[in-house]
Amino acid sequence: MKELVEKLCSDACAGRAAGSPGGARARSIVFEALASAGLEPIEQHVPAFGGANVLASLRGDTDRWIIVAAHYDHLGRHGRQTFHGADDNAAAVAILVEVASALVHRRQAGRTVLFAAFDGEEPPHFLSEAMGSEHFVRHPTVELDHVDLMICMDLVGHAVGPEGMPDAVRQSLFALGAERSEGTAALVDAIVEPGVFVRRVDAEVIPPLSDYWPFWRRGVPPKAACAVRPRTGATIGGALGVGAGLGI
Ligand SMILES: [Zn+2]
Repeated sequence: MKELVEKLCSDACAGRAAGSPGGARARSIVFEALASAGLEPIEQHVPAFGGANVLASLRGDTDRWIIVAAHYDHLGRHGRQTFHGADDNAAAVAILVEVASALVHRRQAGRTVLFAAFDGEEPPHFLSEAMGSEHFVRHPTVELDHVDLMICMDLVGHAVGPEGMPDAVRQSLFALGAERSEGTAALVDAIVEPGVFVRRVDAEVIPPLSDYWPFWRRGVPPKAACAVRPRTGATIGGALGVGAGLGI
């Protein structure tokens, strides 16, 4: 995971701005990582800014779907400063790939899973029609009414609160939106992962803040996982726990 985060935060990616050469470099890194995980990724061109989403599916034994997503773009360069974006959102992309790899190896039965690394989540596209995730819901590769849940990971690389705060605060993972689909809250509450404190938060407590918004607006139950610092395998386990608990 760390290696992938470092690649995405390298000078070659120059902050991964959507539509930039650095963004294209990041996309090829994500594509390769998903291919190495055992999937067959495709690029979905996003004409609004000349970028692309990276999509890869893992077939289950039903035509019901779960989408696991993390945007891979970041702010790029402003003036002489490069914004590398480890927390937002290279860490979540690394978790996405790790979950994909684990499910490829452990897969038994269940829903088909679409892994989506979206482009163009950051400003100036944030919450606009140009977002990569917005493009996806307008041109979905799976019928949206076959999607039971969309899991969106964003900002999972940082500790919550300043140093000195208890681990129970700093190692929080906020799971937004579990209340919006039947049975999901109980599954999230049942997650036990040493070192990670999963905290459910109603999705409407805060304004829309990531790629779950276009899905939410179209009626796909969203869940966003935010704000935990990856510490050894704890974050991976937390994310996997959500996935495994939901039967994907
Ligand atoms: Zn983000």
